[in-house]
Amino acid sequence: MTQRQLHPQTAYTHFVVTLEGKVAIITGAASGIGEAAAKLFVENGAFVVVADIQEELGLTVVASIAGPDVDRAIYKKCDVTVEKQVEETVAFAIEKYGSLDIMYCNAGILGPIDSILDMDMEEGFDRTMAVNLRGPALCIKHAARAMVKRQVRGSIICTASSASILGGLGPIGYNTSKHGLVGLVRAAASELGKHGIRVNCVSPYFVATPLAISGMSAMGINNASGFEALASSAANLKGVALKAKHVAEAALFLASDESSIYVSGHNLAVDGGFTVVDNSITMLIETQIK
Ligand code: NAD
Repeated sequence: MTQRQLHPQTAYTHFVVTLEGKVAIITGAASGIGEAAAKLFVENGAFVVVADIQEELGLTVVASIAGPDVDRAIYKKCDVTVEKQVEETVAFAIEKYGSLDIMYCNAGILGPIDSILDMDMEEGFDRTMAVNLRGPALCIKHAARAMVKRQVRGSIICTASSASILGGLGPIGYNTSKHGLVGLVRAAASELGKHGIRVNCVSPYFVATPLAISGMSAMGINNASGFEALASSAANLKGVALKAKHVAEAALFLASDESSIYVSGHNLAVDGGFTVVDNSITMLIETQIK
């Protein structure tokens, strides 16, 4: 069903973003950005598999979003580092809802806050790579196999980060994994284009979620308001705090055929310009003038 409508006054085509009838898997959907995306996707007509390792939270999310239409969302336990579980989650979505149109690879961890000088190679590097990079690779592999087999012109989205563009925004393993994720997205977009499958990522600035707040605990910050105050002070765009739902809206744009039918291989920064400006010289000059 097309959602294009003619704007009454301008005669321009007015686009309504919709996922009506689409089936989505969202990994890491028991919390934070994934939870917000699950809610927004369902509100926009999708059927959503909430895939996460946190079963209790995942079931709570499903209960909170499904409402009277209990079939709109369902929880599936899935550890993205385990290929069998990823494969089973894709099969589960198809069995439950009859298709797979959207794979949102969002699950991620920060890993231990360490330095390259004393990095724990197992926990800090290998584990972070396994979740943040190998996980999306597995999700793309199995989602794309299902889409190609069914000739679905699907949309695959990954949550990267400002740390996919700049160094110094998190532990070494995290920073590295997010840079790698952009490479994975571009390589997958290249290979899957011939099947009509789009692959993109969103790169948020700091959002007050359990993952991000845990990274600031050493600074005595352990709640959303303290975290947002710190993030806002370093932000380029002032007067608004980035929320999980803002990132979910960018993912919705990339998921929808109506809004982004020709967008593929893109890293959509949701960062208020943070990764494309450097205010340090201007601030230095302003300080000198004063
Ligand atoms: P969050 O902690 O609220 O959510 C992360 C979710 O991923 C959790 O529900 C967790 O259970 C799940 N998860 C972790 N390991 C998993 C695994 N092996 N298999 C399946 N699920 C797993 O954090 P969030 O901030 O919403 O993180 C979502 C994504 O956003 C991550 O990829 C993160 O790197 C990215 N991101 C976050 C920020 C931020 O500031 N919050 C900024 C940029 C990018």
